Amino acid sequence: MSEFDLIKRYFTRAAPSALLGVGDDCALLQVKPGAVLAVSSDMLVSGTHFFPDADPYLLGHKTLAVNLSDLAAMGAVPRWATLAISLPNADEAWLARFSAGFFALASQFGVDLVGGDTTRGPLNLCVTIFGEVDAAHALHRSSAKVGDEIWVSGRLGDAALALAHLQGEINLSDEHYAVCAQALHQPEPRVALGLALSGISRCAIDISDGLLSDLAHILDASGVGANIDFSALPVTPVLAMYLNTPLGRRCLLSGGDDYELCFTVNEHQHETIKAISVQLSLPLTCVGRIVAGQGCVVLDGNNLPINFETIGYDHFR
Ligand code: ADP
Ligand code: MG
Repeated sequence: MSEFDLIKRYFTRAAPSALLGVGDDCALLQVKPGAVLAVSSDMLVSGTHFFPDADPYLLGHKTLAVNLSDLAAMGAVPRWATLAISLPNADEAWLARFSAGFFALASQFGVDLVGGDTTRGPLNLCVTIFGEVDAAHALHRSSAKVGDEIWVSGRLGDAALALAHLQGEINLSDEHYAVCAQALHQPEPRVALGLALSGISRCAIDISDGLLSDLAHILDASGVGANIDFSALPVTPVLAMYLNTPLGRRCLLSGGDDYELCFTVNEHQHETIKAISVQLSLPLTCVGRIVAGQGCVVLDGNNLPINFETIGYDHFR
């Protein structure tokens, strides 16, 4: 199969939202009047971000999902994507599954694939995503203010727990693995939440590298510190069973791949955020506060700072 047949068969779909989609030298895109473009790229590399034998359908989903998550964290409406893909060979069964997973999520979020690049090489998947946002309402990392509440969506740590299982660090039962594997392989980008936060929050980030690491980006960019209440952090019953182990705490505090949102709001918005949680059927949990200073302190049930070395956290960094 030629490169052009491959693009035509697996990556060319109607793109009604574009003036011009796949097939010419460039796509042509019209942004809604008054909006600005929000643009982000994420690359997934075989052996680094996924196992070489990963299910191609799930990989298609995740390749787009991690990019949608960036738009969610900016409060942007997803519109278009491009896909640069490097493939060792034209494995049609693999391509059919990969594109099915990709386009299933794309149509769920109203995203049109409008271009890309296809080459032979080690398996490597790079999406650039384009969304629209009202510049005044974009959720910047630099906008956290002292006194703001810190909230997170969903539950944290499951993806990292599933990965620990796949890497042989722990042995989850089939039932428990199924719960965590969902978070690892099929993260749900929190686009609706990002949009609901428009005008309510000014500051958000998506949790791709772990809560402490991603929150640190907000703190650095905003010139503030944070207190996090360890016992408030939202976990599934599966992760809860591991919370008294260093591995469980590491998954919760610094496990990657959750793709939940962490955002800050003025405390006056507390009830509004609870209402958004009900409206979206999405758990939203207040886990701490922005404080003056720098860095993040994690507090135990007695409001005392947790010493990470004693809980074996550093060991796993
Ligand atoms: P060029 O030589 O101008 O870079 P290509 O031959 O690489 O063009 O691509 C032909 C068309 O197919 C272009 O519109 C390009 O955007 C699109 N395209 C190439 N690869 C992909 C892909 N993996 N997914 C979607 N569109 C693609
Ligand atoms: Mg090209």
